[in-house]
Amino acid sequence: MYYLNIYTDCPKSWLLKYDLKEKYYKDSLYYQLKGEYKELESIRKRLIRCKIRHKMFEERYQKSNDYRKIFLENTSGPYRCRYCNRPLKTEYMQVDHIIPASKAKNNTYLQMWLFINKCESVNDLRNLVPSCFKCNQAKGRKIGLWPLRAYLGQFESYWKIKKGVDIGLLVTGIGLIAFLGAYYHEEIISVIQGLIR
Ligand SMILES: [Zn+2]
Repeated sequence: MYYLNIYTDCPKSWLLKYDLKEKYYKDSLYYQLKGEYKELESIRKRLIRCKIRHKMFEERYQKSNDYRKIFLENTSGPYRCRYCNRPLKTEYMQVDHIIPASKAKNNTYLQMWLFINKCESVNDLRNLVPSCFKCNQAKGRKIGLWPLRAYLGQFESYWKIKKGVDIGLLVTGIGLIAFLGAYYHEEIISVIQGLIR
């Protein structure tokens, strides 16, 4: 099955005979049709002629309504945010699509990525991770290094190394400032005086 998103708030009369479902994305209204490829393809051609913005994609790239439920049924807590390792209470936990459905719809590279990772759909358990609200907001619909972070975040050793690197950087930073202060304090003072003058 396929979906056809039609981005208009006032559908043409010829569209009204179809089973249009009202959908919202961030308060803006659009319409969605579900059907066989052939049927939707003919509508799509007409949309192109009418210059109406649209998007057609396979059902597997549509976010399901029950992915959270399925995630909770098939995994067990206690959960931690995959991106920052913060412990999460199940009721406040967000279930994040590593590859966002909105991106997978029209990006063949990401579709390939899902295929390589044996994901039947974007709602496959391999594409879902627990996340805190803050990280989920920060990630939004971005890709970047987030899939890598989602992958690494499952390993306890990653967080130990990361913590070690953070502390290491802090110690190095303080050491560097102390070194510069001790050896170059006269130069630093004269530069500051030069700036003030
Ligand atoms: Zn987080």
